[in-house]
Amino acid sequence: MNRKSLRQASGPLSLVLVVLLCWLASGIIADRMVQQELDAALRTQRQMSASIVDNMAEVIASDLSMSRAIPATMAEMDVVQRALAQSQNYAANGAMPPPMLRAILLKAPQLTAVSNFLHDAQGFSGLDSIWLVNANGLCIASSNAQSRNFVGIDMRSRNYLTNALLGAFGEAYGVGRASGEPGIFIAAPVYDEGGVLVGAVVAKVGIGRLRHWVAHAGTFVADENGVIIMAHNSALEGHALADGHVRKMSADERRNTYRRLDFPNVQIEADMQRLREQAPWVPTDIAAQLFGVAERPEPALYESRDGLNSGLSAHLVDPLAAWPELLRNHKRDRLLVFLTLAGTAALAWVITVSYVRERRHHRATRDLAEQLQSANTLLSAEARHDSLTGALSRRYFLDLLRHEIERARASGEPLCMAIADLDHFKQINDCFGHAAGDRALEHFVDTCRAELRGSDSIGRLGGEEFGILLPATALEGGREVVERLRTRLKARPSTKLPASASLSVSIGITELSAEDLPERIMSRADLALYAAKSGGRDRTEALPPDDTAPPARTVATTW
Ligand code: GH3
Ligand code: MG
Ligand code: MG
Repeated sequence: MNRKSLRQASGPLSLVLVVLLCWLASGIIADRMVQQELDAALRTQRQMSASIVDNMAEVIASDLSMSRAIPATMAEMDVVQRALAQSQNYAANGAMPPPMLRAILLKAPQLTAVSNFLHDAQGFSGLDSIWLVNANGLCIASSNAQSRNFVGIDMRSRNYLTNALLGAFGEAYGVGRASGEPGIFIAAPVYDEGGVLVGAVVAKVGIGRLRHWVAHAGTFVADENGVIIMAHNSALEGHALADGHVRKMSADERRNTYRRLDFPNVQIEADMQRLREQAPWVPTDIAAQLFGVAERPEPALYESRDGLNSGLSAHLVDPLAAWPELLRNHKRDRLLVFLTLAGTAALAWVITVSYVRERRHHRATRDLAEQLQSANTLLSAEARHDSLTGALSRRYFLDLLRHEIERARASGEPLCMAIADLDHFKQINDCFGHAAGDRALEHFVDTCRAELRGSDSIGRLGGEEFGILLPATALEGGREVVERLRTRLKARPSTKLPASASLSVSIGITELSAEDLPERIMSRADLALYAAKSGGRDRTEALPPDDTAPPARTVATTW
């Protein structure tokens, strides 16, 4: 890959890289933003869940203590104690068939009276039924028609009764064997006046009467064996908590208490995997506090209270209400942050590109200005000097002449002007070539520079004709100078010219007069040159300052 194609490929590549970086950064920022929202939502909902469960536990404890009060009070009543004491001889010991025993008990007038008393008590107590069991575990009287069927039944196998017949308070959830209705059974031991245990008062509170315990969605109540005895979602009833004691009970025990053997599991546990798939941005420590609930996509908070002065426990599985909104917010925040970052990057790019372009443009303009300046310098140098010989250009020499005249007038010093013309120069060109002619011209100017002062000037007026200015020089002195120049040219020929090429010059010189204009002094110098040429060449002729106009020379200069 060459450098050009590399540069072409690096543009889209860096664009992709910037977009990728913006996307990653937007993910991190959106995670942080929604994590804060989740924190706040959890804090609020946890408070609400805790207060719901606390309230539920209070209601359960208060309802149970009210229900317990009735059998406890009845156990203290004479009528109950007497009836139980009088029926000590009845027992389901096989001596008498159960139907006969039942018929005798139902006919006994004192027991019928007790049953009627129990019926009245049940009527205002809010209990489902009340019955009496003697010390032999036999039901001898009961409150209503339905439970009246209990009379004559051996109840020893009921677990709530076991404690009561041993003298302690008994309480348990169970499904009624006769009614098939679930309820809470409460048994209070009964002692006679002599302090002898004579039986127990048993009361049943139907679950239907306690439904208000689970009024709030997601609530349920479990008994001491971990079996859900009532739930807001009634489909959960009959399920059991994963660690419930019911799993360790024998099949008989389960059948006796619950009239069933199977208890599907209620899964309330941290569901990391589903949470990770739905929202990988949830921190691990928070994810561990959230629970998965069957049939609900959102995670839930779980609160429970046990030890409610009974074997019951109150539970709440509360799906996180803010969850769908949090998921939406995460998507929206990420998009917004991404657009903001990408926009900022694009703006930074535009600013950088404009800045670089501006710098480049500025540099190019500066280079151009420098080039222009050096070209101008070159041009002005070229305008001032003749490119072949390095003598002043004709135009510059004439300007200098005007200037020197003014200066001489101002200072009162003399000024000489000479015009020198190489003799038979055409022949040098013809004999030795034009290049040799050029070398001869250069040599003449070099000779002038060697012979003249630094304040003197030499300019090329055209072809092989040169003007010489000698400031602060009177005619006599000037004549000597140009004469020296002429003789030096002959005495020191150029090494660059063939030896046979002899170079000589004719010079006309004059001095500035008081009234001279540039044209007139130059015309007079030209006249002197003409005289030198006509006089045989290779000589110097001088004309004194003269304020009368000199006659025009036909071959004179073109200026
Ligand atoms: P005279 O003695 O009367 O001055 O004769 P001359 O031959 O020097 O003068 P003429 O005017 O007849 O010829 C001048 C010649 O100088 C003609 C021209 O080709 C030549 N010349 C003018 N400028 C240049 C130049 O720059 N280089 C060269 N090599 N020759 C030049
Ligand atoms: Mg000439
Ligand atoms: Mg000539």
